[in-house]
Amino acid sequence: MAELKIYDLVFDPGHGGPDPGAVGPTTKEKDNVLMLAKKTAAILEATGRFQVKFTRATDKDFCEPAPYNDDLDLKNRVKVANALGGDAFYSFHNNSAAVKAYGNEVYALAAGGEGEKMAKAIRARMALLGMVDRGVKYANWYVLKWTDMPAVLIEYGFINSEESVILAKIDQAALAIAQGIGDHFGVSVSANVIKKEVYEMKEAVLAHGIEDYLVPARRESIKLGNCAVFLRFDDKTPPADIYKAEHLTIVGGGSVGHPNETILSGKTWGDTAAAVSATGA
Ligand SMILES: [Zn+2]
Repeated sequence: MAELKIYDLVFDPGHGGPDPGAVGPTTKEKDNVLMLAKKTAAILEATGRFQVKFTRATDKDFCEPAPYNDDLDLKNRVKVANALGGDAFYSFHNNSAAVKAYGNEVYALAAGGEGEKMAKAIRARMALLGMVDRGVKYANWYVLKWTDMPAVLIEYGFINSEESVILAKIDQAALAIAQGIGDHFGVSVSANVIKKEVYEMKEAVLAHGIEDYLVPARRESIKLGNCAVFLRFDDKTPPADIYKAEHLTIVGGGSVGHPNETILSGKTWGDTAAAVSATGA
């Protein structure tokens, strides 16, 4: 069977470190967009067709050791993004305004390019979120102009006037963005792939700073064919349908009695991650 292309994406959660971004009544933009980007990445990576790299997966200060300033932040952020490299770049933000304002908008550098197509695909999905649809816009933002890949910047909600909506719809927004990205690359992204196991494992993995955990496991399963991946945590019993798969890749823990198991486990998170990564090479 022909190997399916795996797309490399660069996700850039805006702001970070001493720069909170826009600030709402109870949350900061830098934290909301980090969460949104991680959730979006987890959904995409569960398809096995995307690998997401982050300019920051923590509350990073891009200026360090120099004192923070906006220009240096953007310059270093883009440097990180270009060094990571990928098929496309996505920057995640919350909007804010001095007046009451609502809704989502997706920016591209200019009309007519790949970035505009990416923006339109995401906008089409975000328009279904039940928030105000502000459409696709064009702007000369630094991260759109200087990244080496087609790039978009997503403004998810106005933190000054709809923070509660931003928080309440964050899972739906992550799915909408993931589906918009999937639409652009011709990959079907289904809500069904957000199995709790997969999602929580990915979050745990990100929390441990090991980001390449899930994709290699999925890649291994694609290689084996008709394969399920069971990501175990909390000693949960596996869902019954994994026994229908011809092969089973188990990440974490021991045998579950499947006749054709590949067990990728270690004594610690790190050991397990190493076992998974070794298969993805
Ligand atoms: Zn921002």
